[in-house]
Amino acid sequence: MLQLDQDIKFIQGVGPNRADLLKKELDITTVGDILNYYPFKYIDRTKFYRISEINGNMPYVQLVGQILFYDKVGEGRSQRLVANFSDGTGTIDLVWFQGIKYIPETYKPRTTYIIFGKPQVFKGRINVAHPEIEPVDISQYGDTTAIAFQNYQRSLFDNDDASAQQQQHRSSSALQTLRPAYNTSDRMKKRGLNSNQMAKIVANVMRMMDRPLPETLPPFLIQRYGFISYDEAVRNIHFPSDPDMLRKAQARLKFEELFYVQMNIIKYTKDRSRKIHGIMMPHVGEPFNTFYFQHLPFPLTNAQKRVIKEVREDMRSGKQMNRLLQGDVGSGKTLVALMCMLIAIGNRYQACIMAPTEILAEQHLQTIRNFLGDMTVRVELLTGTVKGKKRKVILEDLAAGKIDILVGTHAVIEDNVVFAKLGFVVIDEQHRFGVAQRAKLWTKSDTAPHVLVMTATPIPRTLAMTLYGDLDVSVIDELPPGRKPVHTVHQFDAHHKALYQRVRREIDQGRQIYFVYPLIQESEKIDLKNLEEGYATICKEFSDCKVSKVHGKLKPAEKDAEMQRFARGETQIMVATTVIEVGVNVPNASVMVIENAERFGLSQLHQLRGRVGRGADQSYCILVTKFQLTTETKKRIQIMVDSNDGFEIAEQDLKLRGPGDLEGTQQSGMAFDLRIANIARDGIILQMARDAAAEIVDNDIDQQNPAYAIVWKHLRELRKTQMNWGAIS
Ligand code: ADP
Ligand code: MG
Repeated sequence: MLQLDQDIKFIQGVGPNRADLLKKELDITTVGDILNYYPFKYIDRTKFYRISEINGNMPYVQLVGQILFYDKVGEGRSQRLVANFSDGTGTIDLVWFQGIKYIPETYKPRTTYIIFGKPQVFKGRINVAHPEIEPVDISQYGDTTAIAFQNYQRSLFDNDDASAQQQQHRSSSALQTLRPAYNTSDRMKKRGLNSNQMAKIVANVMRMMDRPLPETLPPFLIQRYGFISYDEAVRNIHFPSDPDMLRKAQARLKFEELFYVQMNIIKYTKDRSRKIHGIMMPHVGEPFNTFYFQHLPFPLTNAQKRVIKEVREDMRSGKQMNRLLQGDVGSGKTLVALMCMLIAIGNRYQACIMAPTEILAEQHLQTIRNFLGDMTVRVELLTGTVKGKKRKVILEDLAAGKIDILVGTHAVIEDNVVFAKLGFVVIDEQHRFGVAQRAKLWTKSDTAPHVLVMTATPIPRTLAMTLYGDLDVSVIDELPPGRKPVHTVHQFDAHHKALYQRVRREIDQGRQIYFVYPLIQESEKIDLKNLEEGYATICKEFSDCKVSKVHGKLKPAEKDAEMQRFARGETQIMVATTVIEVGVNVPNASVMVIENAERFGLSQLHQLRGRVGRGADQSYCILVTKFQLTTETKKRIQIMVDSNDGFEIAEQDLKLRGPGDLEGTQQSGMAFDLRIANIARDGIILQMARDAAAEIVDNDIDQQNPAYAIVWKHLRELRKTQMNWGAIS
């Protein structure tokens, strides 16, 4: 009897060496592991082409015919073996760069073979390099291929095309039409453990399974969604009996995967909210009202009002708030955060706002002090550069409850920073802070403070659900009135002259300009050189202007001084690397020139663009690239030119790059080793899975209902084996 936890090495076709390889390369050690290693695509192996109808654009073709003769071409290392292969409708070349000796010994001329591979055109002739070759041997191929082959042969000699097609059509439902293709590493391929061998191992496992795989979803869900059984799904995901069954298997397994991820997140969140009580903040309080009626410089947007209401509801619910606030750059998140902090202060608690950089922390301090004016709310700054006596006083006053709002960087989570009564924490720019750091803030208070996480990198809804499933999400989806969308253009770097003319026009109108250069670690030296050269050129071109230069190699104080000069309008042009990416606010800046824009990701480009368009004037973003661009880069640039909407851009980014590369996902504590579901494409299934998981957790948090027993049991098993799942709890 075969057990799922049985060591893979005892399966026919594996053995100790391959077992080692499977463990090292794919972390497959058990029978269950290999059943969970799904094919990445399927190849239709019932279709046989004729040589006369193939061309170099086809992905794969299967042919049947004979090798007429072999030929060796070239000398030494570039030597290759070429076989002239014919099926009666034409000839092509089969080419090998390795196995030159062994191939002709194994595959004899004038014997009928099935060959399979990717056709290419070389010097006007079609060839297939390193094809799969299989003798036409019915017993090895099983009935299905044999039938297909016979069909093919019949069709070759059948001039009545319609009837041949009908034949094929009629028999196709009886065929196993799709063969699995498995990803294997180079090392595996070198040692003969290729996709075909993987398929054989899986087939051997399945042959040994003498009873169905145990079900992993409760019957009511299977019924509700019309899923096939787990056993059928696994069998068909590897060896689909037909395309329809493959779709059913995929739907079931995608749902199941997302469902258990959601179960894990939702159950954990619920457990936590039952264990951890939030601070009750029943009042709106005097500071909020004073601010709202006497100091608010402009009316709130509807979106801002809505978010403040949502936060306010959380604060008086008795539950601990964990809320993600998403809002495009410039949507006015800081003001929302401030007003929420004022509610906390009105309930006699302290608040704290944490920014990812010193510059941003200082800017927050200024912004908040400006907003508050003469109100008696004490706001102080704590960063790494606040030292000596000043620091001592701040720490003492904080512990004595004399400071209302502490603005800072990572410095605020150091152990010696003690609050008298911390009740509300704002974290700006989520992606720079990990889950662990968030958790550390909680220890600063007997009862966990309410946490508002703000991000200007909009995260598509589907991703947020998987990634921050433990957070509630609020969205500011509206910009303050009067903003003109930034006009974005793409320019090749050969056209700098026209670019400088445009910049000149803006400067003449009293505007300020950013020039941004990429800075990526591996090529730091070259990038710095680019920046320096750019700086020199710009200084020459605009010799009547003052030019600032900021990059990561500067000391924080130098960087800051230079940023301040630009912010005060003492310099007209800022030449910088991406250090200016986050948050910096200079409303008079109207042009953002991004050099080597092809080297930036979409969300980064959008962030950079958000630095301009903060005043009432028309602003421009100019994306400068080299002439030769990959298709993907062209798409990226086009999306930027077409759209100013951060959410749409994030959505597109997710589609282009996949979730694994998106900013923020690395530290999120939720790894993206989804096996089959794709959150960029399977949004609807994700929503279904989330609803079902929420329903079960809501109905049966005590795990008593027998109808859900199967779910709780499987969740426990998964939590044992999924390494990353512990990380979010
Ligand atoms: P972000 O969401 O990118 O952090 P900010 O909070 O920096 O945005 O706000 C951008 C600018 O918009 C700031 O100058 C801010 O004072 C201003 N602002 C915020 N809310 C409003 C509003 N309701 N009406 C007009 N201007 C606003
Ligand atoms: Mg901001």
